[in-house]
Amino acid sequence: MKAAVLYGVGDLRYEEVEIPQLKEGEALIKVKACGVCGSDVPRVMEKGTYSFPLIPGHELAGKVARIEGKSQGIKEGDRVTVFPLIPCLKCPYCKAGRYNLCDSYSYLGSRCNGGFAEYVKAPLKNLIRLPRTVSYEEGAFTEPASVALHALRRSKLDAGDEIAILGAGPIGVLLAQWAAILGAGEVFLVDIEEEKLKVARGYGFGKLVNAKEEDPVERIRKDTGGKGVDIVVEAAGTSLTLKESIKLAKKGGRIVLLGNIRGEVVLSESLVSGILRKELTILGTWNSSFTHFPKNEWAISLKFMQEGKLKVRPLISHRLHLSQAREAFQMMYEKREFYNKVMFVFEESERGD
Ligand SMILES: [Zn+2]
Ligand SMILES: [Zn+2]
Repeated sequence: MKAAVLYGVGDLRYEEVEIPQLKEGEALIKVKACGVCGSDVPRVMEKGTYSFPLIPGHELAGKVARIEGKSQGIKEGDRVTVFPLIPCLKCPYCKAGRYNLCDSYSYLGSRCNGGFAEYVKAPLKNLIRLPRTVSYEEGAFTEPASVALHALRRSKLDAGDEIAILGAGPIGVLLAQWAAILGAGEVFLVDIEEEKLKVARGYGFGKLVNAKEEDPVERIRKDTGGKGVDIVVEAAGTSLTLKESIKLAKKGGRIVLLGNIRGEVVLSESLVSGILRKELTILGTWNSSFTHFPKNEWAISLKFMQEGKLKVRPLISHRLHLSQAREAFQMMYEKREFYNKVMFVFEESERGD
């Protein structure tokens, strides 16, 4: 089969490799669509995967080509998406159903081979069927959609809460959609790229702030009568936006840190004092929940996509063939053109089989 294999930092090669061998309890999936996650760009271009050579890609959907062992409800030919975190199922966190906190997990596309390939293997337990009306492309969004939902569930967003989302890329817009679905009052979306805000505008979000043109802290404070917002989600991963989060949260507010921070963050006395005096709650969020206790966020994401309430298609800026992977990562790394969700699509990536 063909795959994009990472041999070292920045060394992604499209080449012929062996089709994965299955063990008991695993499925072979013919990949139909695989998105590039924001984390994949530094993974491929700066940090590398846990070992080399390795096939990246963890936002995928495809068709079950073969299964080994008892089917657990999944059949060959099923259209599925894959929870990329492979939990140990033995540690106390796994036993509590909190797979995202597993002590010793594997992960498609960073610790084991992922979806930038014609075929990928995964445990049957990690598969979830796509509803008939959810296309493969949409199905490949289940991971980022669930990551966004998990972050908002961490924030305990309540009806009428005002929220500011820093970063209006695919995750930011997914966060904004979930915030609206969950009954948020005002939703502020902040970014420095006008094109990203344009995509957000297409969704009908009105409170968009271009942080290159105006100070988001001033603007949002002004729009909230000087109070700030109930919830801030930091989804840009910069030192600046983290500091802005503290300034934007109102007294008693919550901040969810979702973006992977690059570099060090130094907080001034007055910012730390702000956390204390405003009695802020700062929450981390990591991955998403794939178990039914308390809630399977993947099933929820798929349900809302199926009902047309969560719209992901407008987020796709590039549909590429896997043979273009190397150039695509160069383009993204050097920001040579505007991109939102870049997706590698394979033949028949549309709905149906
Ligand atoms: Zn991701
Ligand atoms: Zn575990």
